[in-house]
Amino acid sequence: MKNKEIRAEVITIGDELLIGQLLDTNTFWMSAELSKVGIEVIRKSTVGDNEADILQLFAEAEDRADIILITGGLGPTSDDLTKPCLQKYFNCGEVFHPEVMEHLEDLFASRSRELNESNRRQAYLPTACEAIFNKVGTAPGMWFEKADKVFISLPGVPYEMKQMMEDSVIPSLIQKYQPVPRSYRFLLTAGAHESMLSDKLAEIEPQLPPYFHLAYLPHLGRVDLRIGVELGENKENRLKELDHWTNKIYDSIEQHVFAREKISLEACLAKLLEARKLKLSVAESCSGGYIAHRFTSIAGSSVYFKGGLTPYSNDLKVKILGVDAKLIEKKGAVSEEVAIAMVKGVQSLMESDVAIATTGIAGPSGATDTKPVGLVYIAVAVGEKVYTKELKLTKKRSLNIELSATAAINLLRIKILDHKDLKTNKKIEHYSENKFEALD
Ligand code: AMP
Ligand code: MG
Repeated sequence: MKNKEIRAEVITIGDELLIGQLLDTNTFWMSAELSKVGIEVIRKSTVGDNEADILQLFAEAEDRADIILITGGLGPTSDDLTKPCLQKYFNCGEVFHPEVMEHLEDLFASRSRELNESNRRQAYLPTACEAIFNKVGTAPGMWFEKADKVFISLPGVPYEMKQMMEDSVIPSLIQKYQPVPRSYRFLLTAGAHESMLSDKLAEIEPQLPPYFHLAYLPHLGRVDLRIGVELGENKENRLKELDHWTNKIYDSIEQHVFAREKISLEACLAKLLEARKLKLSVAESCSGGYIAHRFTSIAGSSVYFKGGLTPYSNDLKVKILGVDAKLIEKKGAVSEEVAIAMVKGVQSLMESDVAIATTGIAGPSGATDTKPVGLVYIAVAVGEKVYTKELKLTKKRSLNIELSATAAINLLRIKILDHKDLKTNKKIEHYSENKFEALD
């Protein structure tokens, strides 16, 4: 079988996974390994230690996928049902594997332990399968074939499963299916919705060759674009095509792209600050110190991060940042004018080149007739210039904190890039960009 899309379903078995006692890390790891070699994972399923449910899932998975990769339920205890279920599913008897028994005896001897009856049972496997050697544990894996499909069963213990995947399962799958590996490029964007990006790519997307795969991967306030190509036989050419199309996509959405590698938005701004030798200070009301936290989480941030304040009360905005009390009274603490006064105040207090300020209603309380929950003003100062943005975010506090921080970091990044010379413009200008929509 060659060059057909190879579809895999990953099945995890165990009550502990269903009741929230154990986090299923196996599926995560296995899916990544399968994807790397060009096998598409089409479904991930979890089932409890229940024979009827397991058998039903096997049948459904066989309908959907070429490769059914199973972990868990292989222990020697009575609650582990994977082996008897597979035996039933393949309607076969069982057979003794002397090489497995030898391995078990060696393993137990090396640990000065006696083999008991349930350990010995592990050397008996369904006749329809081949054993997969488990050099670091007791339960062997099983490889069943049915027409063009395979069922592979591996132990749940992560390090045993990983060893067996790397040593034998992945190489055997490559040999059997000859999947076409893919290569990827990433464009990380901020400040644009998925739908906004897809509108901008409406012309390019249909032109992409059929062996290209474009994925939109949304995060809070950001979207990553993953551009993948099937490498096939002419790998060099395909990689050139990948760069060509990645550049075309980049050209259409350039203003939203902050990185071509997997780094955080703040790490990206941090690089820019370092490169331009700029110092940053922040005054955060509604983001409550979260922006400062995001920068100080980066090793070496003292090079560019001067400091941050969280003047939450009006009182402190006046006392520490020098915001005019009358301005707060007239416009309200959540206003564009106060955001501007805050950013200028912190920039001057901390003597920084650039600064960020946030003020808003994070919610769920605090709304007024004219100011709803989710209304946020961000202001950034770059040298003598100040830029603001009004954000209409969500009803959820944690989202509003995250989204306003991301928007503020992104606004400062864009404005620094726009400035060719930071120190020459002495006139204080103010630009308003109230175009940002709710990102929910
Ligand atoms: P089992 O093969 O069901 O006896 O599983 C043995 C042990 O492997 C369990 O007790 C868990 O600690 C671990 N395990 C099983 N399934 C998973 C999974 N999907 N992800 C991570 N660990 C697992
Ligand atoms: Mg189990």
